Amino acid sequence: AAAVDPASLPLLDEGEATAKALGYSADATKVDASKFPTWAAGNVCGGCTLYSGAAGAATGPCSLFPGKQVSATGWCSGFIKKPA
Ligand code: SF4
Repeated sequence: AAAVDPASLPLLDEGEATAKALGYSADATKVDASKFPTWAAGNVCGGCTLYSGAAGAATGPCSLFPGKQVSATGWCSGFIKKPA
């Protein structure tokens, strides 16, 4: 099958059931830390192991949300810090 251009994928909707369950926010600074205590300042999709967006891109694919793009400055509770 032909590779799908990741940039053509739709953006993940924060209101989607899985996104809500995982506390996804397109703006990591808006995460409700009382509900998602694993959130920590500075943790964003762009620094997550599951994110595969190009360096410097505003959005990119996340393996937790197949077929969608997440915001590089977003966050969800599936966050796994990229090894340094
Ligand atoms: Fe962002 Fe990582 Fe959550 Fe995917 S798993 S939405 S890249 S924090």
